[in-house]
Amino acid sequence: MTEQICFDGRVAVITGAGNGLGRDYALEIARRGGAVLVNDLGGSGAGEGASQSAADAVVDEIRATGGKAVANHDSVATRQGGEAIIAAAVEAFGKVDICISNAGFLRNARFEDIDDAKLDAIIDVHLKGAFYVAQPAYRVMRKHGYGRFVFTGSASAMFGHAWQANYAAAKGGLMGLSHIVAIEGSAYGIKSNLLMPTAQSRLMAEMNDGFMEIPEFARSVLEADYSAVQDRLLPAFNTPLALYLASEQCRSTHGIFSANGGRYAEVLIHATEGWISPAGAEAPSVEDVAAHFEEIGDPATLHRPLTVYDEFTAVAAAARKRDAAP
Ligand code: NAD
Repeated sequence: MTEQICFDGRVAVITGAGNGLGRDYALEIARRGGAVLVNDLGGSGAGEGASQSAADAVVDEIRATGGKAVANHDSVATRQGGEAIIAAAVEAFGKVDICISNAGFLRNARFEDIDDAKLDAIIDVHLKGAFYVAQPAYRVMRKHGYGRFVFTGSASAMFGHAWQANYAAAKGGLMGLSHIVAIEGSAYGIKSNLLMPTAQSRLMAEMNDGFMEIPEFARSVLEADYSAVQDRLLPAFNTPLALYLASEQCRSTHGIFSANGGRYAEVLIHATEGWISPAGAEAPSVEDVAAHFEEIGDPATLHRPLTVYDEFTAVAAAARKRDAAP
């Protein structure tokens, strides 16, 4: 039988936990015994304004059922904000075991129309915001020899979605951040994974205007396949995977996972074996690359480099294979 997953004695920081996905994670971690710092700036779905009520309401809900929670209303989007969030968790509960970077909003537009106001705000909240909170959290976790990071990525970045060049650029950056935290943190009991969630929320509502303009090929998908899973696009369908990744039992680090309509999947990055140029110090020509382009992209030779070091191992193996060939 699968062991019960509980968070007794654990302290979780969840950013953007006043609504949507983060709220559901906070309620469920608290229900399973964890102490939660509920962070939320409380602005609109487009990231305007601020209010204490979103975080406070979630804290009230947790405390009403006997759980442990404190509210924090700092923005993740500044270094001081990130430090204040982690300091508040340490002050209230003495440590940080779990950091779920989840805060964010959307400012969708066509690629050619994304100005600095739309670019900077999105990079600041999603990419820098996750960095600013994770860094002080990592220092605390390292001291205690234990930690779980769940960074919130997006299928938009991993697979592509129209009108979200700013958002996909920021969310794609989080994949790199999670990988490095996983590698460096492995010496200190710290695991880090990226979760790509899907749920109807304020954030989804913010996208609806964009859907009206979506390219024809995507419209037919939305009309057929999207509506087939629509009633399962709830925060609660994402929480089991988020909480597994945040748990002591989590077996993964350096991973990328998707939760979508009750389907849970791992997203794996692979490289082809590729083409290795002739031995020696002479670089190949552009024409050489053009001539071998199919081999470079041959999906029959996939392997999975887990680190940049694995890539050197694969290159050395390809060179040995070339040199051994008759
Ligand atoms: P949501 O709007 O319901 O919740 C996001 C919360 O973040 C809000 O309560 C908001 O006040 C808070 N927030 C915004 N800026 C903040 C800041 N500077 N500091 C602190 N808090 C701030 O949205 P959601 O759908 O629950 O999204 C949660 C996360 O999941 C986001 O990172 C989003 O990009 C990501 N995501 C969502 C979906 C989806 O389908 N809903 C898909 C992929 C990724």
